[in-house]
Amino acid sequence: MPSIGLLVFSWEIPSLLSTPMLFAVQPSATAFLKHEYLNEYVFMVQARGIQIRENVKNIGAQVLEQVVRGAYSINGTDYSYDFNFSESNALPTTYLPEGFTYLPSQVCPERLPSMKGRLEVNMSEISLEEVERSLLEGKPNIAPGGYWKPTDCLPRWKVAILVPFRNRHEHLPILLRHLVPVLQKQRLHFAFYIIEQAGTEPFNRAMLFNVGYKEAMKDLNWDCLIFHDVDHLMENDRNYYGCTDMPRHFAVKLDKYSYMLPYNEFFGGVSGLMVKQFKKINGFPNAFWGWGGEDDDLWNRVQFANYTVSRPQGDLGRYMSIPHHHRGEVQFLGRYSLLRHSKERQKVDGLNNLNYSPLVSRRPLYTNITVSLSRKLAPITDY
Ligand code: UDP
Ligand code: MN
Repeated sequence: MPSIGLLVFSWEIPSLLSTPMLFAVQPSATAFLKHEYLNEYVFMVQARGIQIRENVKNIGAQVLEQVVRGAYSINGTDYSYDFNFSESNALPTTYLPEGFTYLPSQVCPERLPSMKGRLEVNMSEISLEEVERSLLEGKPNIAPGGYWKPTDCLPRWKVAILVPFRNRHEHLPILLRHLVPVLQKQRLHFAFYIIEQAGTEPFNRAMLFNVGYKEAMKDLNWDCLIFHDVDHLMENDRNYYGCTDMPRHFAVKLDKYSYMLPYNEFFGGVSGLMVKQFKKINGFPNAFWGWGGEDDDLWNRVQFANYTVSRPQGDLGRYMSIPHHHRGEVQFLGRYSLLRHSKERQKVDGLNNLNYSPLVSRRPLYTNITVSLSRKLAPITDY
C-alpha cells in the first residue's frame, strides 16, 4: 500500500469498537485539519462513519432478532447467536411457536417449531446397522429405500437426496444419522439415493448425479433434488431442504474454508434444484473426470438459464465436513478448458447423452445405485 492515507485507515479501524471514545471528536482535529493530511483525515472520518453504521446495524439487527426469538421460544432451547460474530443478515423470525398444531389436511409449514436452529454435529464413527437400528426402532415409518413422509401435515416438497459415493463407507452412516432426523423435523417427503461408482475410472461426481436423478424419477414423481456430498453435515436445522428459491446453494459456510464462501460462484458441497430446473439445464455435465470443476460448470448452466442462485442467510448455511484424505483421487486438470465452453457443451452433454446400466438395491435407509462409468457412456459429437 503506497498511500499514507491507507496506512492511517488501516491502523485506525481495528481500535474502533474497543475504544470508549467512539463518538468523541479527536482533540487534535483542528491542528490536523490545517495540516497537509486533510484528505487522509476526511477519508479516515468517512471510513469510521461507515464502520460505525455497519456495526450499529449489525448489533441492532441481532438484538432485535434475539428479542423476537425470545418471544417465540418457550423452552429457551432456541439457538442463541453469537453477538461477536459480525453478520449483517438478520434472519426472518417467523418460526411457529412450540405446541403449534397443524392439520393433517394442510400443507406443512416451512418454519416449524421442531426446527430449533443449531445442531450438535456428531462425527464419531458408527456402523450402518447401528444407525438403521436407532432410526427404525419402534418407528417403522421409514419404508425400505429410506422413504419417509410426514403424517401430521401434507409435505410441501418431495425431495430426492442424491449422494455420490465411492469408498467412503465410514461417512455414510454418519450422514444418515445426522440428516434423517432433520428432514423429518422439516416435514419433507424424502428418500436417499446413494449413487456408487464402480470400476476404475476417475471419480465422476456429476455423472453420478445425472444417473441418480434418472433412477430416482423412475421411483416417484420428485419435485426437488438435493445434490449432497457424503461428508457434509449441516449445523443448523433451519437450513430448509425444500425447494424455495431454487436453484439453491446450501453449503455456504464450511468449516474447512473458515466459514467463508471461497468465491461467489462456489456451488459445491450441497446444492439443490427443482426437477423442472434441472431438466431445463440438461443436468450436470458428464465430461468432468476426477476432482474439480463440475460444480462450477453447474453454476454456469444455471446462469445461462437466467436463474439466480439463492443461499441460506447468516449462520443457516454452516456445515462441518468430515475430514478425509483424497486417497489418490486425481485432480481434473482439463477442467479450465472445459469450463470455457460450458455454454456450447450444455446442449450436448448432460441428461441427453447419458447411457448406463445400473444395479439398484433397496436398503433400509436408502436406495443404492451402483454404476460403472466410462467415457463412452456419454458420447459427445460436437464437442
Ligand atoms: N466422493 C466419494 N469418493 C471419492 C471421491 C468423492 O464418495 O473417492 C464423493 C463424496 O460424496 C464426497 C464428494 O464426492 O463428499 C466430493 O468429493 P471430495 O469430498 O473428495 O471433495 P472435496 O472435499 O475435496 O471438495
Ligand atoms: Mn469432501
